[in-house]
Amino acid sequence: MSSQSQYGGDSNMQSKQPANSAEGRVEKAGTPVRREENPSAPARRADKKLRAGVLGATGIVGQRLVSLLAGHPWFELTEVAASERSSGKTYAEAARWHLDGPIPDAARGLVVKGLDLSLDCDFVFSALDSSVAGPAEEDFARAGYPVVSNSMNHRMDPDVPLLIPEVNAAHIDAIPLQQKNRGYDTGFIVTNPNCSTAGLVLVLKPLADAFGLEKVFVVTLQAISGAGYPGVASMDIQGNVVPFISGEEQKMEAEPQKLLGKWDGSRFVDAGIGLSAHCNRVPVIDGHLECVSVGLKKIASLDEVREALRNFEVDADLASLPSALRNPIVVLGEENRPQPRRDVNAGNGMAAVVGRVRECPLLDVKLTLLSHNLVRGAAGAALLNAELLAARGFLKHRVTPSESHLAEPVSS
Ligand code: NAP
Repeated sequence: MSSQSQYGGDSNMQSKQPANSAEGRVEKAGTPVRREENPSAPARRADKKLRAGVLGATGIVGQRLVSLLAGHPWFELTEVAASERSSGKTYAEAARWHLDGPIPDAARGLVVKGLDLSLDCDFVFSALDSSVAGPAEEDFARAGYPVVSNSMNHRMDPDVPLLIPEVNAAHIDAIPLQQKNRGYDTGFIVTNPNCSTAGLVLVLKPLADAFGLEKVFVVTLQAISGAGYPGVASMDIQGNVVPFISGEEQKMEAEPQKLLGKWDGSRFVDAGIGLSAHCNRVPVIDGHLECVSVGLKKIASLDEVREALRNFEVDADLASLPSALRNPIVVLGEENRPQPRRDVNAGNGMAAVVGRVRECPLLDVKLTLLSHNLVRGAAGAALLNAELLAARGFLKHRVTPSESHLAEPVSS
């Protein structure tokens, strides 16, 4: 079976990109997007693309972002920034490129900057190492840049949305309060979850909606690319499993509570689920596998659980975002799937792939899930967050330093 027919071929970014940028759909200011070919055409209407900067562009997540931004219908990459080790070099010189395809032409010649608060862009993605991301992201937000972050530093802040659009898009309503609390003007911070939390919560969401969640017990088998580059030493991971990933279990036990909880207009209210996580590093390049047992509030048959997962569908507005999938969960029937090597790129890496849905003698139901840690769990997640923000009007064209002289009155 081809991967396209197995996973559904019409709802991934590769197939949607041309549709979004096709003649007749190219957006002009004030001109409605033609909707006859696709009733759920993208909500964003603008005369030019928003300019994106990537902080931490040379790292393993940053490279994915640079790659996903190439040819994006709404965003263009205009700035790349990293540490002093890289700044001043061209991107092609600075990035030790890990992806299969070549470095996108639009990025090759960009000069890597430091964490410079006068970048020529309308918003920034942050794929910075967590040792620097905390204050750096605050500095950019204070300087007026919307910050769409991958890093852990602000995920659990009481006024920062931790976002998976298919799960808790309404949490972006916290942004105005964050700006007020922190004295930000046009800037703000939005985050995406930890890479293993992302797939887990996407799969838990339809179960929470249909049956309610009481308890979740999860054991992860996490790929080495989740540790950045060079990550775990080859001597430690070749032919081995490392049953410890610093801070990971705490993140997996805390972040789902916020993601599956509610924004009540003034604060995030936790979902109140009992959660226990064991996290392991395994010698796989990309793709986090997770063995999950779930205790449900309402009794459900295995068929009802499978149907709830299979029928999970996002609304038309969300489905029209360029990186979104209409059905972000793929349920496989084979007893030995999902597998990282075979299934990691389902839905261009944006799907959570579920298999082995069966009874659990301790809780109610158990299953195995897989998601791409660098796409659904990092770069693709941030891109989808930025698309949601753009569609809802939170990203706007900024007057940046290179343009500001045009706006200044000519002195006589
Ligand atoms: P990485 O490969 O180690 O890349 C780190 C990036 O941060 C590089 O671009 C590096 O620039 C830059 N950097 C480091 N120190 C800096 C400094 N002092 N000033 C400015 N830039 C600095 O890490 P990664 O895996 O891409 O992860 C990036 C972030 O995403 C981390 O916060 C990580 O926790 C998070 N995340 C990762 C994953 C994943 O699966 N890997 C998933 C979700 C979230 P140089 O190249 O110049 O050193």
